[in-house]
Amino acid sequence: MTTEASQWLERIRALPIEGPVRIMNVCGGHERSITMAGLRRILPAGVELIPGPGCPVCVCPEEDIYEAIQLALREKVILTAFGDMLRVPVNVPKEEARSLEQARAAGGDVRPVGSPMEPVRIARDNPDRQVVFFAAGFETTTAPVAAMVAEGVPENLSVLLSGRLTWPAVAMLLASGAPGFDALVAPGHVSTVMGPEEWQFVVDDHRIPAAVAGFTPESLLAAFYSVLRQRIEDKPFLDNCYPEVVRPGGNPGAQRWLNETLEVVDANWRGIGIIPGSGYQLREKHAAVDARSRFPAYREEARRRAGQMPPGCDCAKVVLGKIYPTACKLYGAACTPRTPVGPCMVSDEGACRIWWSSGARLAE
Ligand code: SF4
Repeated sequence: MTTEASQWLERIRALPIEGPVRIMNVCGGHERSITMAGLRRILPAGVELIPGPGCPVCVCPEEDIYEAIQLALREKVILTAFGDMLRVPVNVPKEEARSLEQARAAGGDVRPVGSPMEPVRIARDNPDRQVVFFAAGFETTTAPVAAMVAEGVPENLSVLLSGRLTWPAVAMLLASGAPGFDALVAPGHVSTVMGPEEWQFVVDDHRIPAAVAGFTPESLLAAFYSVLRQRIEDKPFLDNCYPEVVRPGGNPGAQRWLNETLEVVDANWRGIGIIPGSGYQLREKHAAVDARSRFPAYREEARRRAGQMPPGCDCAKVVLGKIYPTACKLYGAACTPRTPVGPCMVSDEGACRIWWSSGARLAE
């Protein structure tokens, strides 16, 4: 542990904490740093760190993945997607392709990509083929997709968008009356794009302490100290513990791309249901690059899959911070990274995958 991290830890330990205090994070990167650095073990008893809705792959609804699989298999498109998405299983009969990876094994041309530039290059290299970019992500990932659309894409490229906003999921939890957390560590990357002000409602509307954090143990410990102190002093405010990157107002250029090309709509979250104002869809003026407009045949078929989840999978509860990954009956038994049942065990940002990678094996 660095000197700075040790100093933050000492400050936390010196606080008169009357537990339990539940601090939720909403970022897979935060959860990874917390778990890999072992921060849960070193914090004072009574401080709980709860992984929340921070994994976009984990909340991508079954119908969107199903639609991508059908496009790969039945339209013979080149289906591009961020690598995490390829192994996410859908709940279809065993004889059907249950993931994009299985669609590829069945003859589909499915290619993992690392950025929106790659589908553009693939489309230019294959002018006689239709290329679909299945783009699932939160604001940070969706902004470059919006930029790609704004700048214009090759005619043979379309986008199957599954973009989500993070704050409405937190707002939904808070509005439920049983949010399951007492303080919030807000995501650094999302705040970089949208501005830290996006989380001000947590303080103003709910008097919940909040702090934006970066991804190092030092920044996370600083954020934990801030929210614990706010709570002890009963003076909640929105702190920015990642000021070197997160600026007031965020990134206006990225926000302009988002606003120009996309509109905010109600959206389905896997296993959770519709969250108002939590999704992005392409604006009407960009319908030509919308894969759902270009290949409308699967929309209804896919829509009928809404709400499907693998039997026994508790991903929705994990995503909402209602249970820890190890409380799922399938964790480490039927569900491992080699045989994932749910997306939380597939994605690098999924809490189940992160906990498994850290060696967590038994229900705690
Ligand atoms: Fe879903 Fe597997 Fe996690 Fe259980 S262990 S919640 S089945 S991903």
